Amino acid sequence: MDIRELFARNRAWAARMRARDPDFFSRLAHQQAPRLLWIGCADSRVPATQITDLDPGSIFVHRNIANLVVHTDINMLSVVQYAVEVLRVEHLVVCGHYGCGGVRAAMAERQYGLIDNWLRHIRELRERHAAELAAIGDPKLRERRLVELNVCAQVLNLARTTIVQNAWARGHPLALHGWVYDVADGLLHDLATTVTGPEALGEVWRMRPPTERG
Ligand SMILES: [Zn+2]
Repeated sequence: MDIRELFARNRAWAARMRARDPDFFSRLAHQQAPRLLWIGCADSRVPATQITDLDPGSIFVHRNIANLVVHTDINMLSVVQYAVEVLRVEHLVVCGHYGCGGVRAAMAERQYGLIDNWLRHIRELRERHAAELAAIGDPKLRERRLVELNVCAQVLNLARTTIVQNAWARGHPLALHGWVYDVADGLLHDLATTVTGPEALGEVWRMRPPTERG
């Protein structure tokens, strides 16, 4: 790829957007008002706005390898706080994808270097669901199942954050969704793991904000 070509493509794209909607960029320059936060994989085949056929300005995005919600990740937490408390999005989506290299690496019996420390979260999940995964004979299907289990676990991790719990306590309607994208056919699937309140969490995870006494 000629890196200079990207600028030519960018100019052509901006011109097409202006031709379609002359006020598009001036509107966006004024403010962004995305309706949804997307936490997805860094994989180049899963760009949030493109696969949902939406324009820039529609989705607030955080991406990392294997779409993990790690409670010590200040980068992810900052994105979630801004999306919920400032942009006031009402939908948080964790989107994994079949064919995820991160999940595949976490299933392999070898090291990959520094990234093993990040993928450890999936390896622990693999251990937690060892019986279910072992019962799946086809390694491809086993990997697909771990992709789904990973998404469900990250939705719960998101629900456990004080950011999400405090939003619910304030009466801010917030729905957390778990989706999987299939890079083989371009289709999104809802894993029906939507969480809309603290009821889905165990007692241990229900934490009152510090302003509440009792
Ligand atoms: Zn991936």
